[in-house]
Amino acid sequence: MEQLNLLSSLETHHDLLKSYEKELVELEEKLKLRELERRIRITEGQLEKIKIKREETKKDIKTCNNMLIEYNYKIEEIDKSLYNGKTTDIKQLEYLSKEKERLMEIVSNRETELLDLMDELELIDKDIMQIEEFLQKYKDRIRKQRKKYSALEQKLKSKIEEEKQEIVSIEGNMNEILLEKYYSIKKNKGSGVSIPQNGVCNRCNMILPMILLDRLNKGEIVLCENCGRILCKQS
Ligand SMILES: [Zn+2]
Repeated sequence: MEQLNLLSSLETHHDLLKSYEKELVELEEKLKLRELERRIRITEGQLEKIKIKREETKKDIKTCNNMLIEYNYKIEEIDKSLYNGKTTDIKQLEYLSKEKERLMEIVSNRETELLDLMDELELIDKDIMQIEEFLQKYKDRIRKQRKKYSALEQKLKSKIEEEKQEIVSIEGNMNEILLEKYYSIKKNKGSGVSIPQNGVCNRCNMILPMILLDRLNKGEIVLCENCGRILCKQS
């Protein structure tokens, strides 16, 4: 009889274990943490690339600015030579005028380039701001989810651990042949024990012959003739 009580208790703990494990999986799915974390990782990668692009654009702007300073200085120097009255050679004056024109064209092109670069930088900054806002929003969401469910998650995990320990402890006190029989039935049918209610197998709903119930009451190991589960008395 002791063995059958243990068996019945073993099945109860297996059922509890299964339900806690199911709850934990459902909870994890509810959290969708993995999906959120994956999206954050991808977005962080994109952000890094855009930040590199921003540094490159800033460098280009600086180069462009330096060139403008340099060319404007050259133009000023040519103006001095052109208008200070010291240069009188016509050819030399013509050369300086042409040179000034050439330099001014370069300056004009560079100025256009600089404006384009500054527009680009502005767009990049906007992108970065948007991405950072998005990341902040998702990170906050994860943090809130974790906080909300971590207590429940921990509780389920410790219950699962307790059930596993209980199962090992019961198994340690059980007859090995009975245990083996139980697990082979459980493997095929999902459960290995039936507790008859009013003479009916509570798993397959078949009426059990009085002779079987009588043997069960005497403490014998009896199987339901229909579903093959081990019969246990209600404790
Ligand atoms: Zn049955």
